[in-house]
Amino acid sequence: MSILKVSKLVKRFGGLLATDDVSLTVEEGEIHALIGPNGAGKSTLINQLCGELRPDAGRILLGGRDITALSVPARVDLGLGRTFQVTSLLDDATCRENIAMAVQAREGLNFRIWDAVAGRARLWDQADAMLAGTPLAARSGTPVNDLSHGERKQLELLVALARKPRILLLDEPMAGLGHVESQEMIERLREIGAQTPMLLVEHDMEAVFALATRISVLVYGRIIASGSVAEIRENADVREAYLGAEDELC
Ligand code: ADP
Ligand code: MG
Repeated sequence: MSILKVSKLVKRFGGLLATDDVSLTVEEGEIHALIGPNGAGKSTLINQLCGELRPDAGRILLGGRDITALSVPARVDLGLGRTFQVTSLLDDATCRENIAMAVQAREGLNFRIWDAVAGRARLWDQADAMLAGTPLAARSGTPVNDLSHGERKQLELLVALARKPRILLLDEPMAGLGHVESQEMIERLREIGAQTPMLLVEHDMEAVFALATRISVLVYGRIIASGSVAEIRENADVREAYLGAEDELC
């Protein structure tokens, strides 16, 4: 069974068909990359999968269960992970505190009183275990406010993982990263992808070609091609869709 199965999804904004009968799956062990020019409808699709936008037609199944009508939090509880919601980080709290809170949210404990969290050695242990061996290991006690853009993206990824998602939806995790930070992010995503399947929306073709087990190409709301890295690189329609910007695909 597919972890995520999207069937005939449709989303209109007035006269614009932003999602035009999109069907796709994400399987266990897969990093399924979704690429396409600006305005193709990638974010619109991700927002429907997370529950932030309601589709006009079609179905979304998570682990075989129909989640099309469920709220964002209900989807998160069922194992749908998403990164890069800026609001998911507390700017004044440290990296470790942000992760501990996400661990606690997963465990369904009451964390209205921060002191109650601080007292729980087990939460800290889990937060420390998640930080160990990541690019943020030495920044555990640093407040989010003092992190670089790249570090912040790494933390958002850790916070999403603290919920132990069954699948991760990533909307442009490389955006705004420098070369070294991008390489670090690619490495991290490769490690994470070995455990957790992903739907990866990304402009950075180096990252896509390095990570994807499958690539789907979205143009004007439609998936025009889907296949392996080699198949997509050779696909004439895909090259056409990138308006001859062949360098982008090489
Ligand atoms: P991408 O992420 O691939 O760049 P988007 O999903 O952001 O593309 O946008 C797809 C199309 O839908 C674009 O033409 C965009 O202008 C339009 N669009 C996105 N969100 C809205 C909205 N809330 N209302 C109206 N049009 C929107
Ligand atoms: Mg987008």
